[in-house]
Amino acid sequence: MYSNLQLFIDGQWLNGDGRAGEDVINPATEKPLAHLPHASIADLDHALEAAKKGFAAWRTTSAYDRAKIMRKAADLMRERYDAISKILTLEEGKAYPEARAEVMTSADIIEWYAEEGRRAYGRVVPGRGKVRQIVVQEPVGIVAAFTPWNFPALTPARKIGGALAAGCSLILKASEETPGACVEMVRCFADAGLPAGVLNLVFGVPATISEHLIAKDDVRKISFTGSIPVGKHLATLAAKTMKRATMELGGHSPVVVFADADPEKSADTIAAFKYRNSGQVCISPTRFYVQEAVYDRFLARFTEYAKALKVGDGLEKGVAMGPLASARRIDVMESFVQDAKSRGGKVVAGGQRRGNQGFFYDPTVITEVPDDCKVMTQEPFGPLAPVVTFKTMDEVVERANSLPYGLAAYAFTGSARTANMIGEALQSGMVGVNSINVSTPETPFGGVKESGYGSEGGLEGLQAYLNTKFISQA
Ligand code: NAD
Repeated sequence: MYSNLQLFIDGQWLNGDGRAGEDVINPATEKPLAHLPHASIADLDHALEAAKKGFAAWRTTSAYDRAKIMRKAADLMRERYDAISKILTLEEGKAYPEARAEVMTSADIIEWYAEEGRRAYGRVVPGRGKVRQIVVQEPVGIVAAFTPWNFPALTPARKIGGALAAGCSLILKASEETPGACVEMVRCFADAGLPAGVLNLVFGVPATISEHLIAKDDVRKISFTGSIPVGKHLATLAAKTMKRATMELGGHSPVVVFADADPEKSADTIAAFKYRNSGQVCISPTRFYVQEAVYDRFLARFTEYAKALKVGDGLEKGVAMGPLASARRIDVMESFVQDAKSRGGKVVAGGQRRGNQGFFYDPTVITEVPDDCKVMTQEPFGPLAPVVTFKTMDEVVERANSLPYGLAAYAFTGSARTANMIGEALQSGMVGVNSINVSTPETPFGGVKESGYGSEGGLEGLQAYLNTKFISQA
């Protein structure tokens, strides 16, 4: 049922064949699923040569023909959704319905970019004399992309979609912990007739691969999704050869529930979103500020939801929350909960590891924590929900904006005036007001402050892979 894990370079699938490698573990059982081959330095140089050849071929393929191949790949992803979704659940742990939604959204992303690539318009600017002034959009060149374990299909889809639609070629290093869904997605492109070398997939020791590829002059753009420290390191490497970069890093998303919101409805909406993928989502709501008058009602409903969630193997029917992706995430949850308790926090739901096989952790709700404790200041990236009170708009805006993060933020209110004010006041790349839908193929997705720069998704996600050239022709 799991994927045959291989590298994909210059249109060829490559096996272990004496290469180093590592086992991929099922986080629900802690048992190995398969062995993943690592790319050697020679493989990386091979991928680079292939990407050069691929770029030459792909940039001169019309946007119309590029779109046909991309749409075919999206169709294949939809045809194979069940197999790919099961692979995704096995390796990452998320509940099967979430995996299925991820695969289908990934296909939508590829299809959307296929269409949008046909609209990468330039323009003609009236000149001051007898001159033709033309602005054209050109693909940036070879892209090195690095994606994390939490969305093994969706994050690669965003990078592949934008880059291919713009006419770039790619070397993608997907996650070693969750490689299978991405292998299968790349297989859809290969089977759709993508020319050799346009899309190359490698795995290995992340730092070795990123340092090797980012140092190469031929790589003109990097795109990274992952943690802030790694993002800063890769941005520094990119600066040495002045490469363009898109950085999708971590967040610590505030949720503000005003007294004029419906507390039960808000709690139902945001709790379902909170525990999606066990909270291992960069836009996961992570700090809950509830206005005093509705605090008790909101907390009661939210806690009830957390306690009732069915936790288990993501392939089991009815399971709403799977395990965390790795043992190290359990350690982080334990340290955050311990810290909160030692600072006066009260655990009102969950608060511990569940069972002794698989990386399961309780859906957890903590109250009465001070603003400066770990869970309120560092990204938990897990199923922890600290819920605290606030009194006024000015106070909550200041507290919500007080961290160096700025990826997503959410607010619930019954007042149009408050909705307008909070949407503008929160320092964040995306704000959901009475909504949690801040990530769609058609809309820009990206952070401010230390959450990174650049957007994926929307028109902006295509422009990320285009250079603007001005031609003045007398
Ligand atoms: P991590 O920093 O060890 O790794 C994050 C990702 O970066 C992994 O996929 C890893 O393979 C990759 N990576 C690490 N070093 C690299 C390097 N030198 N070059 C290229 N890639 C490299 O963190 P982790 O323990 O895997 O995840 C936990 C933290 O990562 C979370 O707290 C969260 O902030 C962040 N994260 C964010 C996202 C996101 O969507 N923005 C996704 C996954 C993880």
